[in-house]
Amino acid sequence: MSTHLLSPSGTAPTDTAPTGTAPAGTDGPLADAQSQLASAVATLGYESGLHRLLAAPRREMTVSVPLRRDDGSVEILTGHRVQHNFSRGPAKGGLRFAPNVDLDEVRALAMWMTWKCALLDVPYGGAKGGVRIDPRHYSQGELERVTRRYTSEILPIIGPEKDVPAPDIGTDERTMAWMMDTYSVSSGYTVPGVVTGKPVSLGGSLGRSSATSAGVVHIALAALGHLGLAPSATTAAVQGFGKVGAGAAQYLAEAGVRVVAISDQYGALHHEGGINVPALQQHVEATGSVVGFAGAEPLAAAELLELDVDLLVPAAVEGVLHAGNAPRVRARIVVEGANGPTTAVADEILTANDVLVVPDILANAGGVIVSYFEWVQSNQAYWWSRQEVDDRLEARMLQAWEGVLATAAARGLTLREAATVTAVERVADAHLTRGLYP
Ligand code: GLU
Repeated sequence: MSTHLLSPSGTAPTDTAPTGTAPAGTDGPLADAQSQLASAVATLGYESGLHRLLAAPRREMTVSVPLRRDDGSVEILTGHRVQHNFSRGPAKGGLRFAPNVDLDEVRALAMWMTWKCALLDVPYGGAKGGVRIDPRHYSQGELERVTRRYTSEILPIIGPEKDVPAPDIGTDERTMAWMMDTYSVSSGYTVPGVVTGKPVSLGGSLGRSSATSAGVVHIALAALGHLGLAPSATTAAVQGFGKVGAGAAQYLAEAGVRVVAISDQYGALHHEGGINVPALQQHVEATGSVVGFAGAEPLAAAELLELDVDLLVPAAVEGVLHAGNAPRVRARIVVEGANGPTTAVADEILTANDVLVVPDILANAGGVIVSYFEWVQSNQAYWWSRQEVDDRLEARMLQAWEGVLATAAARGLTLREAATVTAVERVADAHLTRGLYP
């Protein structure tokens, strides 16, 4: 606690915008992430030195990823790994393969990982990686070469004690197996703790692949209960039918919630009587998208977010709830399965309209919680039962939910503000307790 410059002043919030970050007023995930941090810093009364420290990534790496395509031609892709913070432990966060990946997006996602890990009290900082590629247009062999070359390029900055990647949009357990193998071959021995979200056969954890969805639904049910709504009397719309949305829709339906609308990147569906989620899953496995499913009617994708439902679960990408549509959101509760689905302006509109928004860093933290369990298991070479994983996941999610509710009530904050304040305070405390060196 010895640094004067970086100690909380307890007085005025920041006087100047942090350097190395998006200028105020810029649109996009980084501006949203910075605005959430600025609000938490103002509540906590930190001065600008500490704000700057929390706002700027500790380390960023941008790499070229040359790829030999199956036809023999060579393409040069760009990849990033941003390590936002290490104060509480190794950096942690997913790797995304998507056509719109850019450095600012990865910076925002890395910052959100820092807050998510701190809020759920897993001993990590935050990181994120991304390669600008549309994986749908590449063969499995090409994706393997991209993954291995990207891993080789960022090799010096990852490792079980440094930075531990995991799946995110466009990547999966197969991607993690290739990363783990590439890192292990270069180390000369098998290092399962370098990534999480691995196949169970390689030291992945039971319950990891469904963990984000399960966590979203633990929180959604808690939020319904908080408003006095019984699951069997409620309806939900889920945007996204991938790693997060498909499982969330399934678990919501199992809990008795009527899931009346579901979308993916190709189209949306609506069925007032409730969509048969396992049947839709079979349709998607057979055809590659939700489009054409016989058990529901087609819906314009934008309308899904504005349906008159109790629960809205955006479980796709950033920025889908924005100034343009937020005033028309009729859901009572928004549970953020995606990272950053609500822009800062939309957040204000939803709050003003009395919509309960459960923020991403709480709602979708199930994935990184079980990633932590996987890393512990991998490092100890000792495997837990599925029941043990599921029970510990639920306990941690609900404990964090109760904590955020209590902080929101005590300090008069929204759930997002309470979650961010809690997380930022933990990271700042760790930093200040360690001290600034040299
Ligand atoms: N990509 C997931 C997230 O955004 C999981 C990250 C992890 O498990 O490290 O939370």
